[in-house]
Amino acid sequence: MKSIKTYKFKIKEPNQGKAYKMNQTVRQYRRCVNFYLHRIQENSVWHIKEKEDDEDKIKFYKEDIKEIYNKSRELFDLPAALVQTARDFAKEQFKSWKNNEDNRWYPHFDSFVAVRYDKRVLSFKQSDGHFKLWANIATNNGRVKVPLTSCEGYMSTLKKNMDGFQSAHLIFRDGKFYLNVIFEEEKEITKEDKFEHFVGVDMGIKNIATVVVQDREGNVLESELFSGGKLQEKRRRFRELRKGLGKKKLWGKLKETRDRESNYIEDMNHKISRKVVDIADKYDNSVIVMEKLDGIRDNTNNSKQHNWKLHNWPFGQLQEFITYKAHNSSIAVRRVHPAYTSQVCRDCLGKIERVSQARAVCQSCKKEYNADWLGASNIVRRLFGYMSDDLGGSDYCPEHGSQEPKGVTGSAFGLTKGFVAQLRVS
Ligand SMILES: [Zn+2]
Repeated sequence: MKSIKTYKFKIKEPNQGKAYKMNQTVRQYRRCVNFYLHRIQENSVWHIKEKEDDEDKIKFYKEDIKEIYNKSRELFDLPAALVQTARDFAKEQFKSWKNNEDNRWYPHFDSFVAVRYDKRVLSFKQSDGHFKLWANIATNNGRVKVPLTSCEGYMSTLKKNMDGFQSAHLIFRDGKFYLNVIFEEEKEITKEDKFEHFVGVDMGIKNIATVVVQDREGNVLESELFSGGKLQEKRRRFRELRKGLGKKKLWGKLKETRDRESNYIEDMNHKISRKVVDIADKYDNSVIVMEKLDGIRDNTNNSKQHNWKLHNWPFGQLQEFITYKAHNSSIAVRRVHPAYTSQVCRDCLGKIERVSQARAVCQSCKKEYNADWLGASNIVRRLFGYMSDDLGGSDYCPEHGSQEPKGVTGSAFGLTKGFVAQLRVS
């Protein structure tokens, strides 16, 4: 699994001559990107017409590639490698514009864009002087050597691996220069014998996602609730709107509101999944644990609540987004059987009574919980149970409650101070 890490550096006190060269480079690079964007726009029109089966491919005709390249070398005093990365950047911008129907304006950059460097036009050096780390950067007028500063962690990482970077972005913002160095690392997703932090994610109506982070002993380290109030209100309004349109038989408009609603939900799911993965990323060797929503056909074990989640696609999409974002950060994801996670007391395993949508009270020890919080916490408890039976692997996904591991209802786990009660389906 490839993971991308960005290390941020500040370029410290470049003298006037160096600052001027870098400034000119940033300006010319932006113009070069715009130049390519406009040539792509002109060329792609007839290209798409001639090759309808291959719409998404942006290709210039061979004679044009050379001509546009030569022209841009002539117009801008940029090194060849920078003209090429400007061209690549322009192509990416064009593609994302074309693939997104909501983009009304053709991309054009009025303010600065990040100048994309690779190893041909950028290198790093260490020194014993006042500044320990230097970058050697190509500009429109020769190379400049500039000192870099950053936090200790970024400095030592770059010093250890000065040739290992994938690319770097030179950024000009508020009169200062910055260099973001990008490393692409081959990283393994954490295996279950390394799990240290357990991020339980429950999904529901009141709170779209409830996140509870626990350590191996079951201590709660952090929790966060993502309210679903706004989404409910939005969906209610979309439903009403559609009712009216249906009566008037305005099918085109009806489809349009459906698309608008799914765009809204998709955008929300992207934001929430990002935040959930960011929480997990704060802790070492974390695993995100969610309920298994798909493929469970064992209705006797399913609560109304779960069936409702199963048939509501936003939850499936949210899980999907969380999974791929987590894997991009090498964070493991596990799914557990969904039944009864909000119906068992976290402390004494007693039966829970739901006093209201949000409040849940244990009938044995009288402890009171937020129902979603309890769900998220118990989802992790269930994974503890699987793991103590050596069933914490990514391939273990019980389809039915009856396939849950059998055994005692409590089990010591990991470095437990004492006792971590397991959660059983029956
Ligand atoms: Zn209790």
